[in-house]
Amino acid sequence: MSATKNIIIIGGGISGLAAANRLADLGVEATLIEAGEYPQHKVCGEFYSPECVSILDEWEIPTPVSINETHFISENKILKYNFPNQARGVSRFECDYALMQRAQRKGIQFLTGTTVQKIKSNYTLTLSNGKTLNTEQLILATGRRSTLAESHWNHSTKTKTPFVGIKAHFEGLDLKHRLEMYSLPGAYLGMSQIEGHKTNVAMLAKTDCVQAAGGADKFVEQLLEQKQSKKLKERLKPGKRLFKKWLTCGVPKFGNRSVASWPSAYLIGDANGAITPVCGDGIGMGLTSGIMAADYALQKKSDSFQLDWERRYQKRLNWGALLQGIMLEPTFAQLLIKTAHTFPKITDLFFKKTRE
Ligand SMILES: Cc1cc2nc3c(=O)[nH]c(=O)nc-3n(C[C@H](O)[C@H](O)[C@H](O)COP(=O)(O)OP(=O)(O)OC[C@H]3O[C@@H](n4cnc5c(N)ncnc54)[C@H](O)[C@@H]3O)c2cc1C
Repeated sequence: MSATKNIIIIGGGISGLAAANRLADLGVEATLIEAGEYPQHKVCGEFYSPECVSILDEWEIPTPVSINETHFISENKILKYNFPNQARGVSRFECDYALMQRAQRKGIQFLTGTTVQKIKSNYTLTLSNGKTLNTEQLILATGRRSTLAESHWNHSTKTKTPFVGIKAHFEGLDLKHRLEMYSLPGAYLGMSQIEGHKTNVAMLAKTDCVQAAGGADKFVEQLLEQKQSKKLKERLKPGKRLFKKWLTCGVPKFGNRSVASWPSAYLIGDANGAITPVCGDGIGMGLTSGIMAADYALQKKSDSFQLDWERRYQKRLNWGALLQGIMLEPTFAQLLIKTAHTFPKITDLFFKKTRE
């Protein structure tokens, strides 16, 4: 059975949901297809940079924790930085669900638990439930792992994953209004508060290191025994992990993706290019590119959309890669912290360059 839709969004993470909400506000009919169900936990630091705040406030999405400063920590060295504007904390479990409910209330149709398996030219989508859908305009928001957008003809499901994302919620850690970032051997970790006095602890680790340790749980155990992790171990001591096991996911390399340039297709969020998590800007890029795609789709200008995407996000991907390289090497992180104590403008520079 086949049906035709005006606009289809594939992927209902932060970017697809942003596009859906914007289209709903513009009074445009659209269908969003999401492989998973709502609500669901996602491997993410759950830190919402200042750029996200006005968007989520306007849409009345609750973001209950305000975050005003960050501490970069490497062994015994700390660099403190006050955000120029307030950031926020809330779990993706709550935020994505609230965004989905808002879009649905405003008329967006959701097909959840449904995977798009194939995209054929002019766009015919084959769904996991055996049905097909046709559309003239496609918004691809399939995240960093899907290869769906890479070519019309080669829908490989395998991506190389040099990193592993690891995350769990804790109670009993009192971070108040601060984001803490730790540079560790083979990994870096961020923690900040979310709703209900809980804390999200998320890290990005090198796949080789996690495999060598025999899995994520053992990797974290061994990591906490290293001398560079002394401060982190003390910090986590009073906490109780609320997830039975650390939640994990394979993470492909960051930066630009070699995506197909299809007419009337708009790639948003990590599907177009993923910024390193250390920047805390992936959610912001997802929200803003989702809104941008909706606006361009309304004008049917996919070429201009891609040019605008590159103008807006390209440079920050490179700065993000540099900052991540530093965070994955505690000696480099210490050097950066020392330099930033002498030249404080460096911290401001990194903050601005990873989001301008
Ligand atoms: C360890 C880690 C920590 C991070 N921490 C932060 C942070 O603190 N702050 C921040 O701003 N950013 C952070 N990020 C980045 C942020 O998580 C991402 O940039 C953001 O989630 C991207 O949103 P998205 O909508 O593009 O993709 P996703 O949120 O990945 O959503 C993609 C969706 O598409 C669906 N999908 C995929 N293929 C199909 C298909 N074929 N059919 C149907 N549905 C499909 C998936 O089920 C998924 O729900 C972090 C990333 C990592 C790895």
